Amino acid sequence: MSEFIITEDFPDNQQEFDERFSDEQACYDYLFRMRWPNGFHCPRCGHTDFWMSSRGLCICCRCEYHQSITAGTH
Ligand SMILES: [Zn+2]
Repeated sequence: MSEFIITEDFPDNQQEFDERFSDEQACYDYLFRMRWPNGFHCPRCGHTDFWMSSRGLCICCRCEYHQSITAGTH
């Protein structure tokens, strides 16, 4: 035990950001698989290409329909 790591010098905010980002990504992945177990398809036009915004919105590449993966099923 000759080494002593001073953790206080580590940028806590960056670490918290990374952990939060990682948690959110994992959460989105889980919700995504729950909602679209066979892959995304747009509820409006049926297109399967999409991009995901930073807030968990899946946005259809064809009609730009916004589908939140965090919203309840209704
Ligand atoms: Zn669409």
